[in-house]
Amino acid sequence: MLIKSVSGTVSTDTSEALSRRLESETQGEVLFDDGSRGRYATDASIYQVMPVGVFVPRNGRDVSVAIDIARDLKVPIVPRGAGTSQCGQTVGAGLVIDNSKYRRAILDVDVENLTARVEPGLVLDHLNAALKKHGLWHPVDVSTSAQATLGGMAGNNSCGSRSIAYGNMVHNVLGATAWLSDGSEVAFGPVNTLTGRAAQIAAFVRDLADQNRNEIEANWPKVLRRVAGYNLDIFDNQNTRPYTNDGSVNLAHLLVGSEGTLAFTKDLTLKLVPLPRNRVLGVVNFTSFYAAMDSAQHIVRLNPSAVELVDRIMIELALSNPAFRPTMETALIGRPEAILLVEFSGEDRPALVKKLKDLVTLMGDLGLPGSVVEMQDEAPQKNLWEVRKAGLNIMMSLKGDGKPVSFIEDCAVPLEHLAEYTAALTDVFERNGTHGTWYAHASVGTLHVRPILDMRRDGALKMRRIAEEASELVRKYKGAFSGEHGDGLCRGEWVAWQFGPKLNEALHAIKREMDPIGLFSPGRIVDTPRMDDATLFRFPPPGSQHPYTVRPLQTVLDWSDWNVQNDAITEKTSTPGSGGDPAHGFAKAAEMCNNNGHCRKFDAGTMCPSYRVTRDEQHVTRGRANMFRLALSGQLGEGALTSQAMYDTLDLCVSCKGCKRECPTGVDMAKMKVEFLAQYKKKHGFTLKDRLIAHLPDYADQISRIAGLMNLRDRLPGAAWISEKLTGFAAQRPLPRWRKDTFWASHDTSLFSTRQQAIAAAPKAAALFVDTFNATFESENALAAARVLKKAGYTLYLVQKEQGRHCCGRTFLAAGMVDKARAKLAALLEDVLPLARAGVAIVGLEPSCLLTLRDEALSLGLGEAAKTVSSQALLLEEFLAREAKAGRFALSFKPAPAPILLHGHCHQKAFGAVAPILEVLRLIPGAKPELIESSCCGMAGSFGYDTDHYAVSMQMAELSLLPAVRKNPDAIIVADGTSCRHQIAHGAARQARHVAVLLDELS
Ligand SMILES: Cc1cc2nc3c(=O)[nH]c(=O)nc-3n(C[C@H](O)[C@H](O)[C@H](O)COP(=O)(O)OP(=O)(O)OC[C@H]3O[C@@H](n4cnc5c(N)ncnc54)[C@H](O)[C@@H]3O)c2cc1C
Ligand code: SF4
Ligand code: SF4
Repeated sequence: MLIKSVSGTVSTDTSEALSRRLESETQGEVLFDDGSRGRYATDASIYQVMPVGVFVPRNGRDVSVAIDIARDLKVPIVPRGAGTSQCGQTVGAGLVIDNSKYRRAILDVDVENLTARVEPGLVLDHLNAALKKHGLWHPVDVSTSAQATLGGMAGNNSCGSRSIAYGNMVHNVLGATAWLSDGSEVAFGPVNTLTGRAAQIAAFVRDLADQNRNEIEANWPKVLRRVAGYNLDIFDNQNTRPYTNDGSVNLAHLLVGSEGTLAFTKDLTLKLVPLPRNRVLGVVNFTSFYAAMDSAQHIVRLNPSAVELVDRIMIELALSNPAFRPTMETALIGRPEAILLVEFSGEDRPALVKKLKDLVTLMGDLGLPGSVVEMQDEAPQKNLWEVRKAGLNIMMSLKGDGKPVSFIEDCAVPLEHLAEYTAALTDVFERNGTHGTWYAHASVGTLHVRPILDMRRDGALKMRRIAEEASELVRKYKGAFSGEHGDGLCRGEWVAWQFGPKLNEALHAIKREMDPIGLFSPGRIVDTPRMDDATLFRFPPPGSQHPYTVRPLQTVLDWSDWNVQNDAITEKTSTPGSGGDPAHGFAKAAEMCNNNGHCRKFDAGTMCPSYRVTRDEQHVTRGRANMFRLALSGQLGEGALTSQAMYDTLDLCVSCKGCKRECPTGVDMAKMKVEFLAQYKKKHGFTLKDRLIAHLPDYADQISRIAGLMNLRDRLPGAAWISEKLTGFAAQRPLPRWRKDTFWASHDTSLFSTRQQAIAAAPKAAALFVDTFNATFESENALAAARVLKKAGYTLYLVQKEQGRHCCGRTFLAAGMVDKARAKLAALLEDVLPLARAGVAIVGLEPSCLLTLRDEALSLGLGEAAKTVSSQALLLEEFLAREAKAGRFALSFKPAPAPILLHGHCHQKAFGAVAPILEVLRLIPGAKPELIESSCCGMAGSFGYDTDHYAVSMQMAELSLLPAVRKNPDAIIVADGTSCRHQIAHGAARQARHVAVLLDELS
């Protein structure tokens, strides 16, 4: 029996039998619905193949049973970690087995012998975080370290920025236990320790290597960065670095880089090294790209731990990004054409500083005196590395159908040829009407470059032409075609090219020996498809079997900014709305997701809270964007856009806008959710709960008059339970307390002026926008803000309440009532437009409300008025920070009675509005406000009040926010979001304050 290929079909009966058996014989998650399959049909490559189904095993037994079942039913298996492969290693028409959710334990750390044994789904950063206390790390520091699993890293023979010092995965794996396709479990390790089946395989591979000794000598690339094919050279090392410290042979190295085609890894034993105590960085500035490339060969002689390139385009992109600009500027001398980041690391700091001086001397000798920026402190180095790591992501934000495509992005050439190679490849790009941005691993001759290609049109043709010309250059300079990202579907056909027919046959022999039935990822490494087989593309062009087309859709929001095309040479985009998207830009917005997986993160930042608690591909930004793309292009069948499956995929999205800021390509799921809800509700109608939430601004005033009665819900036994049954608000969750003394009932009218003209003429003025939440439930915040501004001498206008002008439409947007939101906003704009035109700031307190003016208001067809008001809309803290800088806000404050702990609202984070709160808090004498490193609080407007969301909401809060609050019992907690304060009160029994209240108390 030989199991078939990458894109072959499996009958419905077989698929059903597979699903049934997995359900009954394992404890894992069995995901065979169209949506799940669609979400696992892509990785960070240009390919898409629908799997038969997805299996998420809970334990090793589940995997082993799944292998047996798949073998019985002749269904191929595609192992998967985070799915960040760039060449299509994790897509295939088989059973995708996702290790990343449950199979992620650290099984053992041996501090003395510097080893760790881990399950394959463990993420590298999580291992290294656990190792930090021992002063150790696993040093294959890939850019995707926050997502990449160790199983996936071993599968791809991944390589980090510091590979010149530590080598690739193959140099850092010491052993592996894996299942073969016959179901046997085999321990792979040092050859001299092997017995049984492992010894048999070792003997087989040794014989093959012996038979092919001359071919290996002649045709195997002699570079550190060769990851193509199988490591047949373990018995006769061709790598510039020995695979083992003592020159012995380790059979586990045969699995490394085999891309899941030989065996399914159960666990890995990894090499650990001491964390370097010190690092120094020299940033060499070059006036020509060629000079930078030419210098690399000389710089590596100083034994740096990394030499990384950033070219002019990347420098300019970083300078144009407000988040990266300050850091990039610290590295530059004038406007260089390229910079090299040269790092030295080790124990002995003076020795490292000496190396930095040697670098300065060397550059002088090479005719570049005064070209090195020396960074000896940790913080500036760390910041610059972050910018370098974000390099690819910065590049990928290009809108339009032309995208930087990864297919020759990691060819490795010996350093002495790097300058000629890059110059020649740049010519190749030009001849093909495109260009590429160069960056990354100069130390090892692996420069990343992605020419811009339009895969929906002529991209495949150009891809082939460029690949062929690039391959000639690689051959000329005796390099490796696949130097970091593996073979997958994209470079499979180049394996035979790289090694020649005889060695290629030897690779086939290895596959036959270890996986004779072709169960594991057939069609990779051997028997591979062509890289430009359009049936495997995510965006098959016209003329192919199933060309990619988008179904027409009348959208409710304006998506025209995404509806553009771009120029592959200049990267200039056409005018908004001209991109030809039948869904008016909504489809192109979803297509911006290139599946790089950056949203699967747990480190600093917000994105993506629902993934952080569920670890489900369904509940991560990538999964949601994929669902939209597939639905909008008709790949999930009729009505998919407004289906229950789509609803479920969006259900846990808390609209935190974390992705809007942190997704490298700017996927804005919160906005997409509004569009979705509007489309969905148009078809399915609104629920009572939808109406209660959306219309709160309309009825809040009347209800507050019967506050006592309303509050009985949380006082009378059983009342909350009844309300849950009637409305869907979770009984466990106290609702905001109604009160009679709302802002509107209690504010001092003498604080405000109603004459807009006089306000506009005043030297210091602001318009205070009091949202429904602060007005109704926490009037003290709005009153405090008014007092603070008044004390500081501002003439105040109060945004009027009549005719619903005090409402930004947020609650309506959250329910999908876009027309109503538009009407509310239009009324608000009408009131404040004259002031905004006169340059008066519109100052708000609730981040999600005020920032609606800067965000959604611009997508509702409200024209110039929305733009003008948006440009003047500021949160109180943004306004105060701006005014303080300009010397206009100079209140004196008393010292705070306790340390201050700040939780930023997600929308504040998304709009970079957290730094201003810190600035304002620092105006308090002696205050050292500390920011809680938290994602979303989990309340997210009405999300956390919902019966179905309560548990997830609490899990989100428990990720970091509530523990941080509990850990600091004496601190003053500042949180500007209404829902954040409510979550803190409910989850940690602590009263958080709006910054306005603190400033008022202390002034
Ligand atoms: C923006 C970006 C930057 C990147 N930077 C780098 C970089 O700096 N260096 C680098 O080397 N790569 C880089 N990559 C590529 C990719 O991130 C790495 O190869 C990463 O190690 C893959 O990890 P993963 O968990 O996503 O693996 P996956 O993509 O899920 O899988 C990788 C391979 O391993 C196999 N596999 C997974 N688990 C098992 C198992 N249990 N048993 C057998 N086979 C298994 C899969 O079948 C597949 O062939 C980058 C990718 C992106 C999108
Ligand atoms: S949503 Fe953004 S971060 Fe997530 S995979 Fe897509 S492009 Fe990457
Ligand atoms: S808005 Fe927040 S919850 Fe929704 S996908 Fe983006 S990061 Fe995730």
